Amino acid sequence: THQVHIIGGGLAGSEAAWQLAQRGIRVKLSEMRGGGGSTAAHHTDGLAELVCSNSFRSDDDAKNAVGLLHHEMRRADSLVMRAGEIARVPAGSAMAVDRDVFSAEVEKALTNHPNVEIVREQIGALPQEGLTIVATGPLTAAALAESIITVTREDRLAFFDAIAPIVHRDSIDMDKAWIQSRWDKTTSASNEGGDYINCPMTREQYLAFHQGLMDAEKGEFKDWEADTPYFDGCMPIEVMAERGVETLRYGPMKGVGLDDPRTACEEFPQGRWPYAVVQLRQDNKLGTLWNMVGFQTKMKHGAQVELFRTIPGLENAEFARLGGMHRNTFINSPELLDRQLRLKSAPHIRFAGQVTGCEGYVESSAVGLMAGMMAASELAGNAWPPPPPTTAMGALLSHITGDADAAHFQPMNVNFGLFPPLHEVKKKQRKEAYTSRAKADFGEWLTLCDTVPA
Ligand code: FAD
Repeated sequence: THQVHIIGGGLAGSEAAWQLAQRGIRVKLSEMRGGGGSTAAHHTDGLAELVCSNSFRSDDDAKNAVGLLHHEMRRADSLVMRAGEIARVPAGSAMAVDRDVFSAEVEKALTNHPNVEIVREQIGALPQEGLTIVATGPLTAAALAESIITVTREDRLAFFDAIAPIVHRDSIDMDKAWIQSRWDKTTSASNEGGDYINCPMTREQYLAFHQGLMDAEKGEFKDWEADTPYFDGCMPIEVMAERGVETLRYGPMKGVGLDDPRTACEEFPQGRWPYAVVQLRQDNKLGTLWNMVGFQTKMKHGAQVELFRTIPGLENAEFARLGGMHRNTFINSPELLDRQLRLKSAPHIRFAGQVTGCEGYVESSAVGLMAGMMAASELAGNAWPPPPPTTAMGALLSHITGDADAAHFQPMNVNFGLFPPLHEVKKKQRKEAYTSRAKADFGEWLTLCDTVPA
């Protein structure tokens, strides 16, 4: 009999199974592909199938956050990184793999492992008892998704991500933008004078911007996505623009109640309301990342950068992520999970992978790796100290289990904006400073993490 049941043999589930099995724990891994089920994106029955690109993105562990995550995963004996190395194909500074070799290597390692039993079956409901890791991914089968809704008592799961671009705070030109909440209704005490950064537009700027939205190159929804309804409030900005030239000015770009201090005059001592405005809201507790409110979009990435840099104050914006909309099942992790990825309402159940609201092959695998370590520690009666937030794994874990804004939670790739900031380091040297701090802290953490008594 098994000690841990993992549901989903994708990237996260396979990695979690490996971490547990290597620690001597017996695992049952249930995967529906090959057992009568599949998803709209998978084409094979192989474990850890890469559904789209064959890239794990940058492998530069000195200057890039995902490269740093590779480095940490290698040090933590990641199966995904091991198999990735065997399957590697040339891709410059990126890490790309032959997807068939990669999947076969993952499957071979788990099939041959004496502690892993792979069962081809679809699981229809969350188990009532027994340590469980749910790693069913962005296309979780419908019956299980229903069961997750019932157990979490949420009124719904997100079936679409509606991602507005996220900007690094230190790349916003505050000589043009200013901080203020509409009608000065501020909810937090932490930001000077308001919760929003406002980028004002004149009439001419707004009309040009509107035309830019109409003309921009857009991505298409896939057939199977087109049938999935998105919620009100998640409409792509270009669709709003198509409804009429004024729609955005009565929606997310309305200027009422916002006093642009640079237009202050005798008649309007606080400043005038701008013709239109782009608002940014704080996206993480650290205050390093701000999202463009209401700017979820299907525009192509290049078109987004070009158009959004015409917004006053965002001329030099650096984007932590660009906007997007995809079919994607994920739970509200900051609300529902504890720091050990356990459901607060049913702590025998852990979540891992993209269903937790991380984004990407590598991030999903890293969260699977941590979930495996956590379950192993729990069984051994050890406390599992989370990796420090200065490391890529720690930053990612902190984000999904609490530091992200639960009310507006959207999936996130790993990036330096999730790390405790190093304001004192010059901008040019900052990336190296983040990675060298992370590497030192990660090493120290690894020596403790399987041995701390509860
Ligand atoms: P998955 O790898 O999807 O694994 C989940 C597994 O659970 C699947 O094998 C599924 O068959 C199984 N399963 C689901 N429900 C059940 C059930 N009830 N019972 C048993 N098994 C079940 N990320 C990138 O970095 N690069 C990309 O190019 C990229 N492209 C993407 C394209 C699409 C169309 C989608 C949907 C996502 C893409 N992603 C991409 C995002 C994401 O990183 C991957 O989807 C990644 O595979 C997530 O890993 P995971 O382990 O969480 O989920």
